[in-house]
Amino acid sequence: MTGMRLFDSHCHINSKEFDEDREEVIARMKESGLTGAVVIGCEDPELKPLRALLSQHPGYLWGAWALHPEYQDVDHEPTVEEICSANADPNFVAVGETGLDYYWHKPPCPWQVERFLRHIEAAKRLGKPLIIHARDAESEAVDILKSENAGETGFVLHCFSSTAEVAKKALDAGGMIGINGNMTFKRSVAIQDACAAIPMDRILAETDCPYLAPVPKRGRRNEPSFVAYTVAKIAALHQIAAEEAARMTEANARRFFRLPPPVSGE
Ligand SMILES: [Zn+2]
Repeated sequence: MTGMRLFDSHCHINSKEFDEDREEVIARMKESGLTGAVVIGCEDPELKPLRALLSQHPGYLWGAWALHPEYQDVDHEPTVEEICSANADPNFVAVGETGLDYYWHKPPCPWQVERFLRHIEAAKRLGKPLIIHARDAESEAVDILKSENAGETGFVLHCFSSTAEVAKKALDAGGMIGINGNMTFKRSVAIQDACAAIPMDRILAETDCPYLAPVPKRGRRNEPSFVAYTVAKIAALHQIAAEEAARMTEANARRFFRLPPPVSGE
């Protein structure tokens, strides 16, 4: 995989699954051609350690924080001001992951919608894009993003698991599509069809590690360097070279998150 230029637009290397070997994982990212990654914090206790991790890898690791839609009974529901201050640090390049989760919580879930709206408002105030978690609720989430004009600040439908029709709806609303390892699974025919139909300049590659390791690493702990396998599959679906898909998805991530060029200038 030499000569690759990759970017993991969504990972959780801050999670406990990486406590034993986090620095080795980051070293493998660099060896594999990753020029950076966005690390996501999903609840209050994750914020401080995330800040510390980012400050140890300036210009290489970037962050985003939101209260995840999976968490219903929380001690404290963050206000718009609190979401803004959590993400105000220049190392934080997006607000997320936020959205709707109708897999773990059956709709209607007004608390999820209200929380989602507060995160959208915060992203607009900060002028930063949104990272959207929408599980069994893709179309509903895009409806909200559209009515809130979130395309202006930018959003990505992360871990895209829906159809070409829903992808088109998100693209029409000004969004990007985040493709990860679940697209490489044999049964993921609909996601593959959708991926083939998404213009290359609208795709972000991601791992969502430690979950959803792509084929041929499926079932193992996922890590950012494995984004190369997902990018290779994106390339095959678009009938372009893997290096080309890598370069394009890396450039897309830098544009979307408004990142400066890589520090090493590789
Ligand atoms: Zn995630």
